[in-house]
Amino acid sequence: MRNYTQFYIDGQWVAPVTPRTTEVVNPATEAVSGTISLGSPADVDKAVAAARRAFASYGDASVAERLDLLEAIQAEYLRREAELGAAITEEMGAPASLANGFHTLLGKGHLATAIDVLRTFKFEEQRGVTLIRKEPIGVCGLITPWNWPMNQTCVKVFPALAAGCTMILKPPQLAPYSAQILAEILHDAGVPAGVFNMIQGQGSVIGAALSKHEDVDMISFTGSEPVGVQIQKDAADTVKRVGLELGGKSAWIVLDDASLAAHVAGATAGMMGNSGQTCSAGSRLLVPSARLDEVRKVAAEAADGVTVGDPTGNFAMGPVVSRSQYDIIQDYIGKGLAEGAELIAGGLGRPEGLDKGWYVRPTVFIGTNDMVISREEIFGPVLVIIGYDDIDDAVAIANDSNFGLGGYVSGEDLDTCRAVSRRLRTGAIWVNGGFDFHAPFGGYKRSGNGREWGELGLHEYLEVKSIVGWAAPA
Ligand code: NAD
Repeated sequence: MRNYTQFYIDGQWVAPVTPRTTEVVNPATEAVSGTISLGSPADVDKAVAAARRAFASYGDASVAERLDLLEAIQAEYLRREAELGAAITEEMGAPASLANGFHTLLGKGHLATAIDVLRTFKFEEQRGVTLIRKEPIGVCGLITPWNWPMNQTCVKVFPALAAGCTMILKPPQLAPYSAQILAEILHDAGVPAGVFNMIQGQGSVIGAALSKHEDVDMISFTGSEPVGVQIQKDAADTVKRVGLELGGKSAWIVLDDASLAAHVAGATAGMMGNSGQTCSAGSRLLVPSARLDEVRKVAAEAADGVTVGDPTGNFAMGPVVSRSQYDIIQDYIGKGLAEGAELIAGGLGRPEGLDKGWYVRPTVFIGTNDMVISREEIFGPVLVIIGYDDIDDAVAIANDSNFGLGGYVSGEDLDTCRAVSRRLRTGAIWVNGGFDFHAPFGGYKRSGNGREWGELGLHEYLEVKSIVGWAAPA
């Protein structure tokens, strides 16, 4: 049992102003795995005051000092990486191989990237008579979701530290453990008091208090679209910057060539990774209509081949994060059936033999792009396959979405993949499975307005100042 009832404020572990706790449930067993405290606006006031005080000095720390700090954190992160992995499995049900693999690797990768970017980033640049200076924006509220907890926390905390900002992290209530360990890592690495603060609790209380706070300069939020909208409204009165990284309904276009079967199998299995709880998941698989029979067989086999079970065991897929997420996904599977989509794998209920834990069957439908299951983010292991007539039709279907987060193009002809990629209205496209920590990540349309990862990820936390007359006119 984990007992994480203290907050990290001003360099110390402290009790909440008003003690109140809640239990955390392990989604694989449905048993209580620990306790956290739920903070109040009074805790937020304390943390914001500490962050403001710390900004007076940390905002002026040199690049060399910030690099030293990030490198000290890196050493601590590596030392405690296995603990982070175990916490992720326990809090949100990711299989141990995934939690100790890609989950913690993403956190480590964002830290290494922040260091890389900081080494060469130009904070000052003279253009004509003007000096353009990039300065830390100040005190940041960082609000994160549960689905890739270390990825989403580290992609905010490390660029913010690299920029010279101070911060208050509000981790997800469903997955609070890894963030608690990260706070310990930062403390042990010697992050100065007040630079990093962490308060656990409800989004509607802690997140809202941060968004409305007079002395918070910026909110960086990753999560659902409705909450992103609420945060913008809450932040409006204080005109603070709001970076939003929201949901998606990304299309995966498989071109009509000899590699189709391999790509369909890969995309189907990929959709089930992390139990389908990935914002940029390719949840709409677009294939040539003329080849639907072949696709039906390959996709069904791929989905049926995804093993589901105890995340501490050797299974490809664990449970989804909570009972409420399970219920939402079941509701969508029911809607898919009701609106006439063809079910080719999975379906309602738990996988056979699993009667405890929030396990969902890897589910594949063949449907159309106007169905609810094609338009709304399900955030579970549910794939919708949609047929297209030709490339123009594929692009039109892919772009016919309120979201614009990710996109995938797979095929043998790289020029065609590139041409299709240029036409997709989304913030990131992966061609034949590429990966790059330096590639900016963020959404078009209702998928948000921020850009994280790499150099633009650092830029999120900077203000731009022009000093005109810095140089005498030539
Ligand atoms: P969520 O919006 O319910 O919660 C996200 C965070 O916001 C949590 O910490 C929550 O406590 C907090 N919150 C809730 N209400 C709030 C309020 N009124 N004010 C301030 N904060 C509040 O999302 P979730 O269920 O944790 O995560 C899943 C969603 O996140 C999906 O939509 C997914 O697509 C999205 N997501 C997006 C990205 C991206 O980079 N674009 C990455 C991962 C997840």
